Amino acid sequence: MIKIAENFVKSFGLNVKIEDWNGSLGNYNREKDIISLNIQRIRKIYSHHRDQIPYIKSTKDYIILITCHELGHRDDEQELKPVSVYFDHITEGDEEKLFLVEEYCNEIMDKVLTRCVEREVTAWELGKSYVNPDRIEDYNVMNEKYIKEKRQSYLRDTDEIINLKIKMLHLKIQKEVELEQFNKAMNVKGN
Ligand SMILES: [Zn+2]
Repeated sequence: MIKIAENFVKSFGLNVKIEDWNGSLGNYNREKDIISLNIQRIRKIYSHHRDQIPYIKSTKDYIILITCHELGHRDDEQELKPVSVYFDHITEGDEEKLFLVEEYCNEIMDKVLTRCVEREVTAWELGKSYVNPDRIEDYNVMNEKYIKEKRQSYLRDTDEIINLKIKMLHLKIQKEVELEQFNKAMNVKGN
């Protein structure tokens, strides 16, 4: 099955490596220049949930269309960095406390989702150049559906991270208050 994708990229004279993995259906790793495909999941969806992807003609067709999308990520040289940058630059102290402000959380959420959609739309567009003209329409349907799902999963993940941040902050603040009270009490005794 991996051979299908390998032969496909070779037909464009490309040197990109293809590997099987058990993550998302498809992924492109820029550092290693590897496209990863979850062959088991692709086969499973095609054989058991074909009603969800009526536009796919065969497992081979599915593998090729996903590979085209991943080649699109590969061709996106200005690819936006993963969304985790929005969390990484927030370290500790006052900046971190911004997560207690609802508007700030909403803003982060918006940025994450916009970035996610932008990345995927670019891959979709650039990937088109590899798609057989007969399959373009179905490739478009696949990408539209995929981006919606991806957006949903980013929404869930980001929400989870933000909630975790808020919880940690509450704990931290509580500790600070306790420490302050303790120190006050000690001072009283000391006097
Ligand atoms: Zn993608």
